[in-house]
Amino acid sequence: MNQLILVTYHYVRDFPQTDFPRIKGILTDNFNKQVELLQSKFEMASHDSIISFLSGKYFPEKNLCYLTFDDGLIDHYENVLPILMEKKISAAFYTITSCINSRLVASVHKNHFLMAELKFNDLYTRFSQVLKEVAPNLELQPDMDIVKQVYKWDEPEIGMYKYHMNYGLPIDVREQILGILFNEVFGREESFSDNLYMGWDKLKELTNHGMSVGGHSHKHIAFSDLEPTEQRLDLSTCYESLRTNLSKSDPLPFCYPYGKAPSLSNSTPKYVQEAGFSTAVTTIPGWNSPKSNPFMLNRVDTNDIQNF
Ligand SMILES: [Zn+2]
Repeated sequence: MNQLILVTYHYVRDFPQTDFPRIKGILTDNFNKQVELLQSKFEMASHDSIISFLSGKYFPEKNLCYLTFDDGLIDHYENVLPILMEKKISAAFYTITSCINSRLVASVHKNHFLMAELKFNDLYTRFSQVLKEVAPNLELQPDMDIVKQVYKWDEPEIGMYKYHMNYGLPIDVREQILGILFNEVFGREESFSDNLYMGWDKLKELTNHGMSVGGHSHKHIAFSDLEPTEQRLDLSTCYESLRTNLSKSDPLPFCYPYGKAPSLSNSTPKYVQEAGFSTAVTTIPGWNSPKSNPFMLNRVDTNDIQNF
């Protein structure tokens, strides 16, 4: 029985030629080469074919591979779309609806660009100062298992900083700190947001070229940090925004922010389904089969795909 693999991409750009050469991701040329390699080994899937496969109605002759792109980054319009069109490959693109509608920069991205712009020691010093101002009595107690598991590619100190920013700190404290730091370094976030993310016009263009556009939540907060009512509200807001701005009939796939098991609560996949989404992808590595839960699909990072 053949299986399905999903590949995760974030930034795809020519980093040395951009204002932020230290942002981490895949070079456009390497992306092109990776897609060629995948195309030679797998049958490249579409949203329709993965739905048929997962429901046990489609038996491909080769293993299936589906490409997925997180965060609605402008990279995906400028650098990815032309390559996929040339190779006649369909893929999924997951957007953060509040970033487009309110011209915000998601905290996770504020952090990426602060880390790319500042020397780590300077950032950490300023982070610690602002943390003391914002939450003078807060005691930090990191969960070292999560630090090691989620940030295995990072230096330990950097992994710890990312952990605090993405999981460890209470959301309001983290948002406040990142807001202050981002503003100090880059100024207002509206124009930064306009340059970082695809707007609805570009997302519509993706769908016109046969791509699937879905949700990556409204606010890009780990669902484990939200109460059930807040999770449902985030999901329904995201879903409605996509329905209003995109086709009224296309299935809408979903992608969990962060996507590792600790970032979800047990009921989150059920809430995603109830909100109306067609599937949901995690960042838990592994293959998928017709036995997989379509709202807990495994995905493999572009850096790890050679091991599969
Ligand atoms: Zn994301």
